[in-house]
Amino acid sequence: MKKIAFFCIPAHGHTNPMLPVAAELVRRGHAVKFYSFGDFKTKIEATGAEFVFCDGYLPKLSKEEEEGLKKVSTTEMSIQDIRITLAMNDFLEEEFRSFKPDVVYTDSVCFWGKLNAWKFNVPMVVSTSTFAFNQLSSKYMKNSPAEMADMIFGLPRISKELKTLEPYGYKVNGVLSLVQSDNHTDSVVYTSKYFQPYAESFSDHYAFVGPSVFSEAKPEKKKERPLVYISMGTVINDRPDFYQKCIQALKAMDADVIISCGNTVKKEDLGELPENIQVYPYVNQLEVLQKADVFITHCGMNSVSESLFMATPMVLYPQTGEQQAVAVRTAEIGAGVLLKDDSAAGIQKAVEEILHSAEYATAAEKCSEDFRACGGVSAAVDFIENAPHTSNGEDVVAKLNQANGKFQFFYWMLVIAVITLISIFLKWKFVWVIGVAAGILSTPVMNFVQKKNYEAIVSKKKSTE
Ligand code: UDP
Repeated sequence: MKKIAFFCIPAHGHTNPMLPVAAELVRRGHAVKFYSFGDFKTKIEATGAEFVFCDGYLPKLSKEEEEGLKKVSTTEMSIQDIRITLAMNDFLEEEFRSFKPDVVYTDSVCFWGKLNAWKFNVPMVVSTSTFAFNQLSSKYMKNSPAEMADMIFGLPRISKELKTLEPYGYKVNGVLSLVQSDNHTDSVVYTSKYFQPYAESFSDHYAFVGPSVFSEAKPEKKKERPLVYISMGTVINDRPDFYQKCIQALKAMDADVIISCGNTVKKEDLGELPENIQVYPYVNQLEVLQKADVFITHCGMNSVSESLFMATPMVLYPQTGEQQAVAVRTAEIGAGVLLKDDSAAGIQKAVEEILHSAEYATAAEKCSEDFRACGGVSAAVDFIENAPHTSNGEDVVAKLNQANGKFQFFYWMLVIAVITLISIFLKWKFVWVIGVAAGILSTPVMNFVQKKNYEAIVSKKKSTE
C-alpha cells in the first residue's frame, strides 16, 4: 500500500481526468489524499479518496484579478498559483511531515503540488490535462496579440512574485520550468501518441494513456434525426451571443440540439426556444456525446478528448492559444472543421458540412478506436505505482537542439560570408538589405530545418528500436 497526495488547481477541466485515477488507486488499496476545493468535494469523495478542504488558502481577489482569471490570463494565473503556494506553506509542511506521501500526483500547472514535491524530495508524477507542450508541440499554440502582451508584460510581475517563494525553501528557475513539459519529469498525459503532436519528442518519462473517463460505454449513434451538442466548457462560457447565433443557425434544421450554457448565462436570457433546442446549465457530457453527431466546442482538451472517445466529429471554436492547439490538431486528423465565420450562417454551414461528409465521422471513429486501445486509467495507475521512472531512450529534444544549433551556426556564418563578399565586390549600402532579409528568413528556415531534423532523428530512432 502506498500513500499518494493529489494536488490540483480549482478547475473542472484539470480535476476531472484525475478522478478516475484516484478511484482506481483507492480500489487497488492505496491511501489517497486529494488536496482540493469545495466545488469539487462531492466528486472527489465519490472516488473514495480523502478530500482535503483547501478553500481557506485561496487569496481574496481584487476585481481586476478576478477579471484576469476569468480571461484565463497566464500572468494572473501564475501569480495566484504563487500566492496560494505561500498561503499553504505551513499547512503543507505539516501535511508532508505527518502524511509522508510516497508519491505526489500533481496537475501540471499546480505550483504548490510541484514545489512541495521538490522541497520534500518526494517522487512526483505530473498529471497533464492538455497536450504535453515542449518547444515543438507548443508551435501548435497560436496565442492572440492580447495573450502575447499578457505574457510579455506579465513576466516582470511573475519574476518578482516568484522571489517571495525563496525564503520558504522553494527553488525555482523561472516560471517556464514550472509549467513546461520536460523530458526528465514523470508525466501522465490523457491522450494517445497518435493525437499528441510531436509525440516522439517525449521520453520514456511520459505515459500517454488516452482519455481518463469513468465511462466504458461505446458510441451509439442510431436515432431518428441527428443530434448537435454545444458547450463552451466550464471556464469561459459566458457567451449568450454565441448561443443565440447557434439557436438562429439550427432552429430550422431537422436535428435535435442540446446546449450546455454554464451557470452564468440563464436559459431565459436566450429568448424563446424552438421545439428542437434544449438548454441546460450542465449536462452529463459523455452521455450526450455518446449519441451526438456534431459537437460545437470551445476545444478544451477534455471536451475534445471526450468527443473523440465517443467518435463525435466537431465544429472547432477555440478561444485561447491552448485551445487553438487542440483545434488545429483535431482538424489535422480530419475529425473537425475550424469555425472561421462565427455568424449564424457560418455555424449552419459548418454543422451541415460535418453532417453531410462522412469522412469527419470516420476520422473521429479512428481516433476513438486508438484511444480505446491505450492503457487508460489502469496504465496511469501502474505508472504512478512504479514512480520514479528511469529513461533509457534517447532524448530527442536534446539531439534536436544539437542539430539545430549546428545549422544556426552555419546559417549565420553563410550570411556573414555573403555580407563580406557583397561589401568587397559591390557596395556597403547593400549590406543592410542582406542583414534584414536573413533576419526575416531565419524563422521560417529554422522551422523547416527543425521539422526535417526531427523527422530524421525520429526515423533513425525507430530503425534502431
Ligand atoms: N462538462 C460536463 N458537462 C457540461 C460541461 C462540461 O460534464 O455541461 C465537463 C466536460 O465533460 C469536461 C469538462 O467539464 O470534462 C470541461 O473541460 P475542458 O477541458 O473541455 O474545458 P474547460 O472547462 O477547462 O475550459
